[in-house]
Amino acid sequence: MTGFETADLDAAVMRGEIVALFQPQVDLTTDRIVAVEALSRWEHPTSGRLEPAAFIPAAEDSGAISGIGDVMLAMCCDAALGWRDGGTPLDIAINVSIAQMCDPQLFDRLLRTLDVTGVDATSMTVEITESRPISDLPEVARRLDVLRAHGVGVSLDDFGAGFATLEHLDALPVSELKLDKSLVQSSPDDGRLDAAVALANERNLRLVAEGVETEAQRDRVCALGCDRAQGFLFSPPLDVDGVARALSV
Ligand code: C2E
Ligand code: CA
Ligand code: CA
Repeated sequence: MTGFETADLDAAVMRGEIVALFQPQVDLTTDRIVAVEALSRWEHPTSGRLEPAAFIPAAEDSGAISGIGDVMLAMCCDAALGWRDGGTPLDIAINVSIAQMCDPQLFDRLLRTLDVTGVDATSMTVEITESRPISDLPEVARRLDVLRAHGVGVSLDDFGAGFATLEHLDALPVSELKLDKSLVQSSPDDGRLDAAVALANERNLRLVAEGVETEAQRDRVCALGCDRAQGFLFSPPLDVDGVARALSV
């Protein structure tokens, strides 16, 4: 489904129809949930629950992504405080697309929200998702430098696919690489996963493997030295109570 008007998306934000699910990330040395990635859904009044592919591209084009990003951040902070107060603090990753970074105030609002809510900045990672090329790399790097200076992590999402490139890895203040599922699910004869892991290790980056669906994929990324893994093998995206239940088993 496409073709939403800016007004539809803005109204959806206002009506509280944008909700956050959280997909667990497991520490590969302990098998414990140590982090979650926040993924948006639109609880559409007539079409039911919509996946991000149905509305994020339109939101990026219209600018409504800015409001979506703000409510996602607020929900992440709420959830993070709940897990922390329940005795199991989790790291939390939030998706920020290149289109969102056109908003020069975005990261100011993010830092202010962390400050006001008391969520530890070092528990937050911004996943840079590149649905389009980065036109002004030095400016994006400058803005991310400010986040890093406050302790917020910066992850290059979908590494090995899409627009994420070596140039970005070198130009941006990255603290984590998120290995794309196409690499994680590739055949062991395909050297791309090993090469990406080597690049991350040279730079001392945290490595997260996404799209882990099988034991064999888990064993492979574990043997290669990935730090964390995310995928249907461990858990689908869950609501906030679902994460609390997953933490208690
Ligand atoms: P992503 O950041 O790469 O998120 C991972 C996607 O892979 C999610 O799809 C997740 O549900 C799916 N996934 C998780 N485990 C597995 C697995 O084992 N196998 C397979 N095949 N898929 C798996 P989802 O939730 O539909 O999100 C799609 C994309 O939409 C995200 O890709 C992200 O780029 C974007 N997105 C989601 N929420 C937001 C948001 O709040 N803001 C922005 N800017 N983008 C968002
Ligand atoms: Ca992501
Ligand atoms: Ca990804």
